[in-house]
Amino acid sequence: MDRAIRAKALHFPGSNAGSMTYFDDGVLLIRDGTVVDFDDASRLESKGFDLGQCESYPEHLLMPGFIDPHIHFPQWDVVASFGTRLLEWLETYTFPAERRFADPEFAEVAAEEFCDGLLAAGTTTAMAYSSSHAVATEALFRAAERRSMRLLTGKVLMDQNAPDGVRDVMPAAISESEALLKAWHGRGRLGYVITPRFAGTSTPEQLSAAGELFARYPDAWVQTHLSETIEEINWTASIHPSAKDYFGIYEDAGLANARAMMGHCIHLTAEEIRRMAGSGAAAIFCPSSNLFLGSGLMPYERLMEAGIPVGLASDVGGGPQICLLHTMADAYKVLQLQGYPLSAKEAFFQVTKGNAQVLQIDSFVGDFTPGKEADFILIDPEKSPEVSRRVARAQTIDERLFALMMLGDARVIAQASTLGQCRISKRSEGT
Ligand SMILES: [Zn+2]
Repeated sequence: MDRAIRAKALHFPGSNAGSMTYFDDGVLLIRDGTVVDFDDASRLESKGFDLGQCESYPEHLLMPGFIDPHIHFPQWDVVASFGTRLLEWLETYTFPAERRFADPEFAEVAAEEFCDGLLAAGTTTAMAYSSSHAVATEALFRAAERRSMRLLTGKVLMDQNAPDGVRDVMPAAISESEALLKAWHGRGRLGYVITPRFAGTSTPEQLSAAGELFARYPDAWVQTHLSETIEEINWTASIHPSAKDYFGIYEDAGLANARAMMGHCIHLTAEEIRRMAGSGAAAIFCPSSNLFLGSGLMPYERLMEAGIPVGLASDVGGGPQICLLHTMADAYKVLQLQGYPLSAKEAFFQVTKGNAQVLQIDSFVGDFTPGKEADFILIDPEKSPEVSRRVARAQTIDERLFALMMLGDARVIAQASTLGQCRISKRSEGT
């Protein structure tokens, strides 16, 4: 065995939150970067495993690494920027920040910091928007590859309504995307995502060319934004007048199927929900961003009931914090306002196995079933006085998890490993 980690431990081996398996004294066995076994310590001992080989963290919580299905690599520097809503926020903060990613040296350093930032926050897998620059996209792929992270990203496509320095041109934007896809998609743990930012910044010509690219590479992904604010919906309708509605813009372009991740989906009509459910496209819930930009409350339960797969994401930089524990806390608050109390079990399911399912990567990551890639985190409640105080009084695992998601932050992530290798450790070693 390459590594044996012993701690309080949980995962979701099934396809819903009800499948949670928790061990007060669990062991994860890893060889060659993959999970060999995950079980109760005494049961493994009775099968002949020597517990003396374990790295032991009796007060830590071991779980699969978090998966963030919607985050913007070039926006980490503009988080917590004051006072604007979506369209003005893009103009004022985002586009100037993204322009700097044309510089390969700047992008290289930023990519290293971004990947370390994700790992330090417990996120071992992400689907990220790059900037519109190929060099930044390559820098992010390289940084993720160096850390053996499962990372999906793509160059932003944006050929209108964006300033010089971030606006791309057709047909070069598509040929650049295709060249990146050919170079990086399926290389190790990396994957390519065809990434029109949203209907406001792509011409109909660019969206259909992106759809044609997707048709040529159906095992790539698509990511874009849909129905985030009322102003944006009216604006996109005015520049794509032939589309039935906002979702119809992507549908017409061939960008809506089960490998398409639609960020936000706050103000969809009943008709859009019906067609989106039929398409298989996923809705990505970004509660921190929606609160921060004042965009609205995503109808999570309604979309789920309609049969739309729903992921849960940070959306940094619209969302101010990179750690998905904050996202879970905000999801709870947004859903409280809609009369849907989100359980801790469901929130932790969402950011691990749930997001893996939505991204269609659950055959590789998301839980500790033998054969899966060994991406995991260790959470140490003692790293935060607030968490530690509340967890000490918790009677059940549900109560403990709820305190963690409401009070936790990146400080409690003690270790993050990808393919069984420790990439970030905030304490010296186990005992
Ligand atoms: Zn976004």
